[in-house]
Amino acid sequence: MERAAPGGRFPGKVAAARVDSYERERIGAAVRQAMAPLGGASGILAGRTRVLLKPNVLRAAAPDEAVTTHPEVVRAVAAEFLAAGAAVSVGDGPGGDPGPAAPAFEKCGIAAVCRELELPLRNFQESGSVEVVLPFSAARKVNIAQPVREAELIVNLPKLKTHTLTHITCALKNIYGYIPGFLKTKLHTLAPRPDDFAEIVCALWTVFPAGFSLVDAVIAMEGQGPSGGTPRRVGRIFAGTDPLAIDTLCAWAMGFDVRDVPLLAAAGRRGLGIGERGAITVLGESAEALRIPGFRLPHTSRIAPRVPRWLMRPLAAAAGRLFWVKPRVLPERCTRCHICVRSCPTGAMRGEKGAVPTLYAPACISCLCCQEMCPSRAIHVQKSFAAGRIFRTEAQREAARAKGR
Ligand code: SF4
Ligand code: SF4
Repeated sequence: MERAAPGGRFPGKVAAARVDSYERERIGAAVRQAMAPLGGASGILAGRTRVLLKPNVLRAAAPDEAVTTHPEVVRAVAAEFLAAGAAVSVGDGPGGDPGPAAPAFEKCGIAAVCRELELPLRNFQESGSVEVVLPFSAARKVNIAQPVREAELIVNLPKLKTHTLTHITCALKNIYGYIPGFLKTKLHTLAPRPDDFAEIVCALWTVFPAGFSLVDAVIAMEGQGPSGGTPRRVGRIFAGTDPLAIDTLCAWAMGFDVRDVPLLAAAGRRGLGIGERGAITVLGESAEALRIPGFRLPHTSRIAPRVPRWLMRPLAAAAGRLFWVKPRVLPERCTRCHICVRSCPTGAMRGEKGAVPTLYAPACISCLCCQEMCPSRAIHVQKSFAAGRIFRTEAQREAARAKGR
């Protein structure tokens, strides 16, 4: 696979196209519009033929839940590359629960698209994996799915969502899905802090970069994403070769203070693209038009972004008593499926068969994989008082400032 320059062929450039529904012709037109200033499918291919589309298939969820990349977006992008002569396949490996992945591909509608277009669907939990050495981060080696290594061009197809651990999941975070199934979850034990986790994602980008990213932000997710939030119409497709520019623009549009997002900060330090909002050029419309009024941000999951590392490390024990977030199961919503139990990397989420799971707090590393994988939005994030003060959203901070608090 070609090693990309920082920001790819179009550093600091993000193409945007408006589209207000997933109606097939409209999505097709918007995808073409977003790809055109980047050279269209032929220009993006630049002579390469083996293309792997990497959507976000986090778990078995219907398209209108806004958990997964919409199948019409996958269809439209596949059609563009097929028309340009590429051999296109689609692959991902749902997270957490090490159960079969096929139901996730079926329920999100991507399996049907693959059948209709006769595209190979590569289930990363069954496709085999290869060990790769990471140049930095807490994980020195990781296993990535074999189809990732075989592709000449990875086309990254994230869904724009909030994320209770990383704040935003978009272009940068989506390639964490190269790591098959439960291995993804296990890695959280090596890097429970968001900035340590961000380093793993950045290291993956340096080894197997996606050459092109196209974001499904037609219906995004706000609130407690990436799984338990609520759908929110944004009405955009974003595209580019610079994942940091795409994520910075999206985070800013959602209302984050981009300095607070550890993944963006880490990607900037590692030179993965342009992370200054003012240095990003939006192709197709004005940046100001992209602001999403009142977008609901997640309760962030850890203290890390606002406490310096030099203070956090020596005071970890005391800080841990003051600043914490923990999952809490809401019994009235819980279906007792125990996906959360099987998705917990430390065994902290426990329960007898048929019972509502409970948390063994001392073993919990606050990775929130349980919340991510719960199909019933039955896991709430509890914060300590101190963490609640620190994890205010910018809007909450502004409101507090206005009240003099
Ligand atoms: S909390 Fe969610 S994932 Fe866990 S058992 Fe209940 S419904 Fe299933
Ligand atoms: S119980 Fe704690 S350690 Fe287990 S998945 Fe949930 S947040 Fe992570």
